Amino acid sequence: MTAFVFGVFGLIVGSFLNVLVLRRGRAPLSGRSTCPHCGQLVSWYDNIPIFSWILLRGRCRACGSAISLQYPIVEGVTGVIFAFFSPLYSAAQHFPFPIGVLLLADYLTIASLLIAIAVYDLRTTYIPDTWVYACIALAFVSQFLTSLPQFDLAVVLLSGPAAAVLLFLVWFVSKGRWMGLGDVKLALGIGYLLGPLYGFIAVMFAFVLGAVVSLLILLPLPAIARFLSDWGIAHIAPSQSYTMKSEIPFGPFLIASCIFVWFTQIYGIPLPLFP
Ligand SMILES: [Zn+2]
Repeated sequence: MTAFVFGVFGLIVGSFLNVLVLRRGRAPLSGRSTCPHCGQLVSWYDNIPIFSWILLRGRCRACGSAISLQYPIVEGVTGVIFAFFSPLYSAAQHFPFPIGVLLLADYLTIASLLIAIAVYDLRTTYIPDTWVYACIALAFVSQFLTSLPQFDLAVVLLSGPAAAVLLFLVWFVSKGRWMGLGDVKLALGIGYLLGPLYGFIAVMFAFVLGAVVSLLILLPLPAIARFLSDWGIAHIAPSQSYTMKSEIPFGPFLIASCIFVWFTQIYGIPLPLFP
């Protein structure tokens, strides 16, 4: 039941995250949603997470132009992630009031910010400073609050840098060509969120994930496109496929692996790296 409530809350938050990502630097957050093609106000019943998109078959009710798949995907992913976070509700009750409530709100805000950063980075290959600084600050607060029973200032302070130092070196050595400074800041926040050991594991796992997915995107796609064109099945210009020069953002990999490692912590799943 808690998972269901968390999931529904996640759907609504995901709907807001779409607005946050799409309006950043363009329009105020407070205005009602309009169709980007015809400017028609979107009524509340056409603005229900996922369901409206499916009922409208992904088209604007007024002008019929396509509504981006990003809307239902971000809503659905946020809903599922929030549902998986529902054990945090009972975990929060082990902390004295109001620390448990603060921690729960803190964690859900961090998760929302991470999802927004991942989507924004995917769209623009850029990580907004204000969002990642907010993440670092909130993650630091969570590290501080959870460490209160056996408070150790060194662990609290160093967990962020421990996770970020490797990315910082990559950024420094490559003068920002292989790694953006935004990724380094993100890793700092992930370190404060997960602690020094798990933060470091999350960064390592992001490298593996990034390498595997990049190879999957870079190697077969042009080949598949050529195969389909050669056989007259579909014509995809090879230039539309990803090439080695395409900039694949690293932020989404960091965030995906952070949320994965976070889940293993929440559910007490031992990572096979440490038998
Ligand atoms: Zn329209």
